[in-house]
Amino acid sequence: MLFCTAGLSAAKLLLESGLSPVVLEARDRVGGRTFTARNPETKWVDLGGAYVGPTQNRILRLAKQYGIKTYKVNEEEKLLHYVNGKTTTFKSSFPPSWNPFVKLDFINLFRTFDKMGKEIPNDAPWKAPHAEEWDNMSMKQLIDKICWTSAARRFATLFVNVNVTSEPHEVSALWFMWYVKQAGGTMRIFSTSNGGQERKFLGGSSQISECMARELGDRVKLQSPVFRIDQSGDMVLVETTDKQAYTAKYVIVATPPALNLKMHFNPELPPLRNQLINRVPMGSVIKCMVYYKENFWRKMGFCGSMMIEEEGAPIGLTLDDTKPDGSVPAIMGFILARKSRRLCGLTKEERFKRICESFSKVMGTEKALHAIHYEEKNWCEEEYSGGCYTAYFPPGILTQFGRVLREPVGRLYFAGTETATEWSGYMEGAVQAGERAAREILCTMGKIHRSQIWQSEPASEDVPALPFTTTFWERNSPSVGGLVNFVGVSAILSVATLAGVVAYKKGLVPRC
Ligand SMILES: Cc1cc2nc3c(=O)[nH]c(=O)nc-3n(C[C@H](O)[C@H](O)[C@H](O)COP(=O)(O)OP(=O)(O)OC[C@H]3O[C@@H](n4cnc5c(N)ncnc54)[C@H](O)[C@@H]3O)c2cc1C
Repeated sequence: MLFCTAGLSAAKLLLESGLSPVVLEARDRVGGRTFTARNPETKWVDLGGAYVGPTQNRILRLAKQYGIKTYKVNEEEKLLHYVNGKTTTFKSSFPPSWNPFVKLDFINLFRTFDKMGKEIPNDAPWKAPHAEEWDNMSMKQLIDKICWTSAARRFATLFVNVNVTSEPHEVSALWFMWYVKQAGGTMRIFSTSNGGQERKFLGGSSQISECMARELGDRVKLQSPVFRIDQSGDMVLVETTDKQAYTAKYVIVATPPALNLKMHFNPELPPLRNQLINRVPMGSVIKCMVYYKENFWRKMGFCGSMMIEEEGAPIGLTLDDTKPDGSVPAIMGFILARKSRRLCGLTKEERFKRICESFSKVMGTEKALHAIHYEEKNWCEEEYSGGCYTAYFPPGILTQFGRVLREPVGRLYFAGTETATEWSGYMEGAVQAGERAAREILCTMGKIHRSQIWQSEPASEDVPALPFTTTFWERNSPSVGGLVNFVGVSAILSVATLAGVVAYKKGLVPRC
């Protein structure tokens, strides 16, 4: 018995293994943090999780099985970077800078992130050699330590905001470095082409959950919020708020950890689990879609991707959301972290207006003001998500509580993307977690061997992962700090040498 992408993929595997799973879903729909809305204005729109890319092989496998096709997010034309009131165009994953110091700082920043990531085990970040030191530090502290220029510090903040919908001061450096690493590194996680945002599902991402639910039939019980799990008897008793009781041999809890605070457990959860669920808040995001009559940005030579660094701008990152056949021109944008908290008090219309004004400034055209439709979803208000995209670990929590994330409690097993070791926080992580939890139960029942619980996934043939290459300069250029030290030491040595020569010439140095 279970609760959705993660719960459904667990149930699917259990059903295929000859068991009789039941899925208890609090909402009146399946899909959880994925949500495809359908209406005449948009045809369909993903207001929750949407993007998939190379190395996300499990979710791609499920989609293929159900005949759900992917298409590439448009990145043909130039991307835009808006900072200090100025727009520049570029054609890479990260915006370049003309300033050599900023350039060095950027290279060193992401090189350091990836180097730190290499030390962190996907399945046990708390075992990293510097785990405690890095966990006791916030990302803000780490960014301040690495960056010399305000430009790099500001972009690093956006990088944290975009990837985990939280602020750098809120999250542990160990956790964030782990999060980026387990998604394949800074390039894989942030890139559109060859990265996590390369593609979308034609028809929307919720279709995957809907197809799994169809397969499970009336085993999926909607509008069934679980509030009590009792393991004191021979069978586990699960009660829902609509006064239904279900019994099962095993239960997989496949919600974000903090939502377990709404559930009563008998016996009580063990101390570390009980405190863990109090300590892992959810990120904050409002996903926004702005629709236009025509795709004017492409005509201007812009692909629709914008990275916007301005405190007053609602949106931090955008991507083209036009349908692959060129219909329904739209731009998707995220209102992230502090900004979603600031702007959630406005009306939908006010947010819509501010977003169009900001797009108009960034793209430098009046046309952006004349949108014809707007969709948004504020995930901060969702009772059965608690926020999105995922849970984050504040400083000091991962090393103290991380090891119990996936640890079963009696006959309770834990899934949900937060418990994944690859692409945790993503749909891919949800599938990995659900299938792993299902195999844990199969193992307990003696149906499979312990060594079969964790399974790697063959690479998708349709969405191949290309390696990211770095230049000699990117690998070996000095950091700004290194350069300053080098220049400083060189300057001192030059001055000392010069002084020595002058002193020698003036006969101030004894000649032997
Ligand atoms: C705006 C946004 C953008 C995102 N972008 C991406 C992206 O581009 N790519 C990507 O891969 N991922 C993205 N994600 C994240 C992705 O959607 C999630 O990681 C994934 O869907 C999580 O799946 P899950 O099954 O682990 O959890 P959930 O989808 O949260 O499933 C948990 C289920 O449990 C149910 N539930 C909660 N409490 C109870 C209860 N008491 N009783 C019964 N049921 C309960 C919930 O209703 C929910 O259906 C995004 C998410 C959001 C919101």
